[in-house]
Amino acid sequence: MSVSSFARALAERSGIASEPRGKQWVYAPYDQLTLARGPLSRANPQETCVVLIESAQKPARRRYHKKKLAFLLSNERHFALELAERGFTVLYRAGEASFAEQLRDAMREHGQREAIVQRPAERELRKELASVEGLRTVSNELWLTTEEDFVRGCGEASPWRMDAFYRYVRRRTGVLMDDEGRPLGGRYSFDGENRERWRGDPPAPTAPTFEPDEITREVLALVERRWPGHFGTLAGFAMPCSRADAKALFDFVCAHCLKHFGPFEDAMSDEEPTLFHTQLSSLINVGRVLPSEVLDAAARALAEDRAPIQSVEGLVRQILGWREFVRHVHERTDGFRTIAPDGQPSELGAHEPLPKAFWDARETGLRCLDRTLETVWNTGYSHHITRLMVLSNIATLLGVEPKALSDWFWLAYTDAYDWVVEPNVLAMGTFGAGDVMTTKPYVSGAGYVHRMGDHCARCRFDPTGKDRARPCPLTPMYWAFLDRNLERLSKIDRVGPAILSARSRSDAQRQRDALILARVRERLAAGDALDASIASDPTVVPKKAVVRRKAK
Ligand SMILES: Cc1cc2nc3c(=O)[nH]c(=O)nc-3n(C[C@H](O)[C@H](O)[C@H](O)COP(=O)(O)OP(=O)(O)OC[C@H]3O[C@@H](n4cnc5c(N)ncnc54)[C@H](O)[C@@H]3O)c2cc1C
Ligand code: SF4
Repeated sequence: MSVSSFARALAERSGIASEPRGKQWVYAPYDQLTLARGPLSRANPQETCVVLIESAQKPARRRYHKKKLAFLLSNERHFALELAERGFTVLYRAGEASFAEQLRDAMREHGQREAIVQRPAERELRKELASVEGLRTVSNELWLTTEEDFVRGCGEASPWRMDAFYRYVRRRTGVLMDDEGRPLGGRYSFDGENRERWRGDPPAPTAPTFEPDEITREVLALVERRWPGHFGTLAGFAMPCSRADAKALFDFVCAHCLKHFGPFEDAMSDEEPTLFHTQLSSLINVGRVLPSEVLDAAARALAEDRAPIQSVEGLVRQILGWREFVRHVHERTDGFRTIAPDGQPSELGAHEPLPKAFWDARETGLRCLDRTLETVWNTGYSHHITRLMVLSNIATLLGVEPKALSDWFWLAYTDAYDWVVEPNVLAMGTFGAGDVMTTKPYVSGAGYVHRMGDHCARCRFDPTGKDRARPCPLTPMYWAFLDRNLERLSKIDRVGPAILSARSRSDAQRQRDALILARVRERLAAGDALDASIASDPTVVPKKAVVRRKAK
């Protein structure tokens, strides 16, 4: 990989402090780009050599979004410069070999016997580094909670529940707790109040953009040259690439997003894909913004009356609750291999391929899906509800294999790493891992999207189904999903009412649902857009689409 003008900038900043020998070596993986936590936060720069590595094997493994590659490489290079400015010796390697091989080579070349690394968050990197002799792993101080917290909060064995973990961690850390040990606002969760639809008021804030500097421009050229066939587009790249950029985005979040974060947390908008979401995940997941910084800022905003409790608690629950929880679930299940030895659980036996549109954002006619895929293609981002209730929901209704969907999310999103993407997709998004961390599948027909957003107003389909010439196919697909999974889902209390409704549907309705699903699958598999009439009453029911009612 070429590092020419970056290499010059690094050499200029390194000066005489560039001799790696005789120093303590710290390897900083691509997702630990901070001086505020871990060994680097306590190190004497004059006595420390920091090793940073770019490996072409990573982009060769998956067709990662081009913006993700540019974001990672540019942040890593800027971090190197920031370290050099602080007086650290920086050993920056960029090559075709794996991270482990390059680290091993660097140690051998410089006669270095020992290096330390904070325990990598990604399972994939942990496995790779296990073979590096002399590499000592220390605990990863970027996390807010420990394995003991997880076990104390929600138990040794699954099923695990985020709420129990979250309540325990709130008590243990004192975050949003009063002096008597009670949750601020009288409750641990304000989730029930955070379900407002957004109708344009208050206006959605516009996040700052970051003009690529010379280092980033060089990275953009490299990504386009080396990985032209990777997912997404580099056009309009304006992501934060330095700690100063990250801080600017963080300040914007505190000033403009936090106040309204809670109430509109579940809302969706056709025109405003980010609403009041922070867009901090890519930065937090590489250490550019610390989760503790977000918690502190949220608590300060509450104390100073700049944000209401439902917004502050909502954000704290995401960071201290969900983010930590999913990472523990991933570790304790060894990336779901304790549930399925190949790491590909499929509780509901789903095995359909991903529709072509996921790969190139071609039009399907399902406006909610099209708009979300377009956003992901362009930016490598969409917020939580579009990930869960549009992409995962539609894939689950179609019966897409959970691992195929998870691998797609992994490459398509700029914030995706195995520890976070797999629990969110294999368990939460698809129920592929069963009830290991969620009580039920998150699925719905058109009703949810219609209630929580405005995509339907611009769609060729009618979400209510009243216009019989163009009813939305998601609703019959939902019934077909329940019908084919009746046996498994009827064991879940929380799905009870939906199962009762599914059972009360006539054979003719069930056959119609199955036929519509079959038609939608066929069209999407061929890469064709759906006609407005695809879910209008079929007159002929082919035999293969008829589903036998499962035993009650
Ligand atoms: C199917 C699916 C796939 C997902 N894949 C990823 C992924 O690859 N990487 C990722 O970071 N998050 C993932 N999430 C979780 C969540 O959707 C994103 O963290 C969030 O949308 C990022 O946008 P934001 O920074 O604007 O988040 P905000 O809505 O502003 O939330 C604030 C922060 O909370 C944290 N957070 C919120 N929910 C979760 C969660 N469920 N798991 C972990 N952290 C959470 C993130 O750090 C996020 O930045 C996924 C969720 C689903 C349903
Ligand atoms: S009508 Fe159906 S497909 Fe169209 S946006 Fe609404 S939910 Fe999505």
